[in-house]
Amino acid sequence: MTGNRRDPTDGLAIYRVGGTVRDEVMGRSSKDADFVVVDASPEQMQARGFRPVGRDFPVFLHPESGEEYALARTERKSGHGYHGFVFHTGPDVTLEDDLARRDLTINAMACSPRGEIIDPFGGREDIERRILRHVSPAFREDPVRILRLARFAARFPDFRVARKTLALCREMVAEGEVDHLVAERVWQEMSQALMEKHPARFFEVLRETGALAVILPEVDRLFGVPQVEQYHPEIDTGIHTLMVLEQSARLNASLAARFACLVHDLGKGLTPRERWPRHIGHEKAGIVPISEVCERLRVPSHCRDLALLVGEFHLHAHRALELRPGKVVKLLERLDVFRRPERLEPFLLACEADWRGRKGLEARPYPERDFLERASATATSIDARAFVDRGLKGPAIAAALHEARVQAVAELSR
Ligand code: ATP
Ligand code: MG
Repeated sequence: MTGNRRDPTDGLAIYRVGGTVRDEVMGRSSKDADFVVVDASPEQMQARGFRPVGRDFPVFLHPESGEEYALARTERKSGHGYHGFVFHTGPDVTLEDDLARRDLTINAMACSPRGEIIDPFGGREDIERRILRHVSPAFREDPVRILRLARFAARFPDFRVARKTLALCREMVAEGEVDHLVAERVWQEMSQALMEKHPARFFEVLRETGALAVILPEVDRLFGVPQVEQYHPEIDTGIHTLMVLEQSARLNASLAARFACLVHDLGKGLTPRERWPRHIGHEKAGIVPISEVCERLRVPSHCRDLALLVGEFHLHAHRALELRPGKVVKLLERLDVFRRPERLEPFLLACEADWRGRKGLEARPYPERDFLERASATATSIDARAFVDRGLKGPAIAAALHEARVQAVAELSR
């Protein structure tokens, strides 16, 4: 039976499009391929075994490979935000029409079955010249494209944004387009951007377009806020934040740790001007804005929890070698590392990134990380069963356990 089964793509006009064509031209490896089918109907696709992805969306999954095959389509805007689109497919829609609705020229190339690159908007030239450029004025119809632009800037740090593209983004922001972005989409793009090689670029580009002030006013506000030069030679809190993010990427930190880096100093944005450049108590002051960002963007709880801990306790980590053993154990208890040992590493990575994210101090050693790791290991090794066997009950066990942990950490510092 299988022998005479027909390949479901046989006889269809199929082109590979988007990211994988860009990556191929750039000589980079890439993930899942997307395909466009020209001159086919939804009924034909289903008759060949392709599975429709949604009811009103002309996208299908290949019955065997699961790869995405979309009918060539044009789009027309019918309202605000991401959902306000009407699609049109049909025999009159050409490959070029489909490429024209895409965001950036580098993402608007196709590859024919024979391997020819089809590039009506100059994507190859923009790759050579390292430019991120919108395909057409229709770019303004979807504010997600601003986020994508910024995300590609984080992935390809040697690319610059075309002047006209930047101007168009600024107009979109001024017209209130960015106000309609849904939280899930912002987090989806932002979390991907945080995991890129140069996450700071995402926020730089958003700031240049004016979108950062709309999406993350708590971060935008940090630019122009001075810090004490002796500790922060870079002075500006916004610049410090971006330097910390870059360090977190260099340290290969997890998403939760990178997000914690982004928001760790939000409290400094609330310091009254007359107290500048000092920010006494900024750690506690950060709790409210960090919580607000997390709620508004529906940040996953494990990212939120770590961000709140890094925000509140990063200075404790920096002072770890001067803290009395009791305070060290208290910090470990506040981090809940005895029940959640997996929390320690991302916490310490974020603190290390904060320490190194300062101008000229990037290479300073951070022995506090190693010390807190050893303190946590030795404190964790103490077994509560010994106290139970001695006949202690309830709170007395907790108190004895705490005391024994303090003793163990004190031994370390000797
Ligand atoms: P990645 O390597 O991150 O997958 P990609 O360019 O493949 O990058 P996808 O989200 O997989 O991005 O989208 C595939 C293609 O669809 C893009 O290359 C682009 O041509 C087009 N595209 C995706 N989202 C949009 C959008 N919001 N507006 C216009 N075109 C888009
Ligand atoms: Mg892709």
